[in-house]
Amino acid sequence: MAGRQLANRMLVSLAAIVGLSISVAGTAVADGEVNIYSYRQPFLIKPMLNAFTQQTGIKANVVFAPKGMIERLKREGRNSPADMILTVDIGRINDAVEAGVLQPVTSKKLAANIPSHDRDPSGLWYALTRRARVVYASRERVKPGDLSTYEALVDPKWKGRICIRSSQHSYNVALLASLVAHHGEAKAEEWARGLKANLARKPQGNDRAQVKAVFAGECDLTLGNTYYMGKMLTNEKQIAWAESVFLFFPNQDGRGAHMNISGAGVTRHAARKENAVKLLEFLSDDLAQKMYAEQNFEYPVKPGVPWSGLVESWGKFKADSIDMIKVAKNRPTAIRIFDRVGIP
Ligand code: FE
Repeated sequence: MAGRQLANRMLVSLAAIVGLSISVAGTAVADGEVNIYSYRQPFLIKPMLNAFTQQTGIKANVVFAPKGMIERLKREGRNSPADMILTVDIGRINDAVEAGVLQPVTSKKLAANIPSHDRDPSGLWYALTRRARVVYASRERVKPGDLSTYEALVDPKWKGRICIRSSQHSYNVALLASLVAHHGEAKAEEWARGLKANLARKPQGNDRAQVKAVFAGECDLTLGNTYYMGKMLTNEKQIAWAESVFLFFPNQDGRGAHMNISGAGVTRHAARKENAVKLLEFLSDDLAQKMYAEQNFEYPVKPGVPWSGLVESWGKFKADSIDMIKVAKNRPTAIRIFDRVGIP
């Protein structure tokens, strides 16, 4: 009896394996499809993918992979069903480049839509949205005139008044990497020491948790990506946090506010490369750019695409247009600096 049960179980799992391989082979030969591994949440990208299918007839299948996407692509190798990845942060994009899971893509449309500082020179990845990392400051305890640059956040007047999330988080790493790129390692380290001296508490929580801390009076200012302002203002439980702060875009008399990106690339072993390129082009074009930026309160990468009304209300600003490749290159140095300085 036990033997028969075991045999049955083996048959079932065999069928599952065969079924799986059939469906994978099925997608591999279908030319009207494209498969995406996405770090970006389904609610955000589904509307754009639906519009893409409507326009091209190409079905876009998405696997939401919040963790281990690159490891998965490496493991699957040439058997991977994925044609394209969608992810956030220059750090994650760079990890994909270094893992060798992407292939270069050239396209006149992509080159025309996306400024050169927001794409890989050989076409391994393209930015699709931009996010500004700016100062969130208490309306009660900080005046806009008290603020100026990222560099000035180390002024002793902010002692015990700044909250940040973990220094090892990719958003903070990218910000420090941009300071390394602009000022060199020694100056960047000096800045990190100054920042540490001004912290109100040990880094903890995410970007929104810092704003909550400002609301609660634990600190007077923090650094956060602008789209979280939109997310908090549209979240009943977080409106009060958002309303206790104002956004300040630093370095407006100089290089501009630090920007990070979300982006996409075609996988090394894409079986449907042509469709993946079509999807990339679609995502870089007016309709998707507008939808993308509106869904998540981000900034379009394509110049001239209108911002969402709420984002517009935070005002026009000067954005740092440093090449994102330079930011990516300085990430390891930034991580080392935060380590040396001892900011958790
Ligand atoms: Fe985020």
